Amino acid sequence: MSTRWNPSWKIVKTTIDKEEVDVCYDSSSKLYVCPLCSPECKRGELPTYSSYFFNLEDMKRHMQAHKYELWKKKMTRANETKVEESEDEEIENE
Ligand SMILES: [Zn+2]
Repeated sequence: MSTRWNPSWKIVKTTIDKEEVDVCYDSSSKLYVCPLCSPECKRGELPTYSSYFFNLEDMKRHMQAHKYELWKKKMTRANETKVEESEDEEIENE
């Protein structure tokens, strides 16, 4: 048994980009925890590392930002296959 902070997790359903997602909320510290950084919170465990948020809106923004981490995967794949050049740079100039 741990004598550390003892979280009491609740699973909170929210919608991010029209997708329903479960996020973890600790009612003892009143913090939201990113389920992508620490999926163990859904099993009621205390994450060793995670991102904590005081409100759900910040949490959503953080989870949306996870999508932009896709570039990391792209970097890895670039070593194996050829990279599409400047196709995804759709910056609109007015
Ligand atoms: Zn996260």
